Amino acid sequence: MASSKIKAIVLKSNNIKERDKQVTLYTLEEGKMIVSMRGVRNDKAKLKAGKEIFCFGEFVVEKGKNSNIVTAVDIIDNFYSLSSNIDKYYEGCVILDILDKIGLEPNPQLFIEAIKALKTLCYEDVKKYYVIDKFFVDIFKSLGFDFLSNKCSSCHSTLGSKYLNLDIGELVCPACKTASCVQISDACYGALRIFESTDYDKLASVKLGGMGEVQAYNILNTNFEWRLGMKLIKLI
Ligand SMILES: [Zn+2]
Repeated sequence: MASSKIKAIVLKSNNIKERDKQVTLYTLEEGKMIVSMRGVRNDKAKLKAGKEIFCFGEFVVEKGKNSNIVTAVDIIDNFYSLSSNIDKYYEGCVILDILDKIGLEPNPQLFIEAIKALKTLCYEDVKKYYVIDKFFVDIFKSLGFDFLSNKCSSCHSTLGSKYLNLDIGELVCPACKTASCVQISDACYGALRIFESTDYDKLASVKLGGMGEVQAYNILNTNFEWRLGMKLIKLI
């Protein structure tokens, strides 16, 4: 069997057989990959820490005909403190859910972005919604949806009041709005622009008013559903 070393983060795992786990990894080199980890439900198992969600490390995988078996894990970071803050934990779970849904193909940019987002969430004092909003904004940008233009995408007039046209995922003016449009408040638009232009390492210093980050999250989540046709787990 061929063995390879891959950088990956654990997205989820299911129990299989008596003591094994089937683990879904998001890998830098190959995108999403299903692997088996043998004996890891045993408390004394050497690899048991490598099966936990959020675990980021170097995995040695033996690739067989019918299964990929992990034989060693060198943990880089398990983002352990995410599990002690319920808001951060769920925000992290949404990031993993997004990777699970869009990560079929290798995408080094997305991988690095996800690690940066989880690091910020775990180690920085950033307000709720900021990290997930930033992650969403960058994902849409990388998928080619330039939805933060200040021009109406239909008539190209400069935007005053703004609506997101969910059919196309772009902003339109009041004259061009259709039944599939949702209004974007100034607070929400301001928040989206700030998340677009602020790096993860500066997010902790951002202060927004008017609950723009909550509205932004709701719009971004709805836009994800419309663009990709998949529902994500929701933050409460
Ligand atoms: Zn227009």
